[in-house]
Amino acid sequence: MEWKELKETKEEGYILVLETGDEVLSKIKEFVKERGLTSYRFEAIGAFERAVLGFYDLEKKDYKKNPVNEQVEVVSLIGNVTESDGETKVHTHAVLGKSDGTAYGGHLLEGHVKPTLEILVKPYGTKVVRHKDEKTGLPLIDLGAP
Ligand code: ZN
Repeated sequence: MEWKELKETKEEGYILVLETGDEVLSKIKEFVKERGLTSYRFEAIGAFERAVLGFYDLEKKDYKKNPVNEQVEVVSLIGNVTESDGETKVHTHAVLGKSDGTAYGGHLLEGHVKPTLEILVKPYGTKVVRHKDEKTGLPLIDLGAP
């Protein structure tokens, strides 16, 4: 993975370029943890050789896993980095384009890059934290938190 800090503008942030074999969620988590970054958002385009998408089942309080075992375009990937009960949480959704032009979409559980993924990482500009919500079982953003 290569990265560059956005220094020529007044806004801070980073551009990350992932390469074949990189797994996107672990690479982003590693990058932000090394720098102590919290409360960031990101967007990306590129391609995966395989991925696992999730669909949250509110009754089971767990993700149904939908594996994607083919080369796909990362048409749109968006997500954020927040602190969730003291841990770094990377939350990501993606739309993945198939060779016939149709698409898969969902909560991203795994994304294996091939050949590249271009990511823009920007700060929220305010601290954003999550707390586990008992009703849904999900760590939801808590804007009332200090
Ligand atoms: Zn999600």
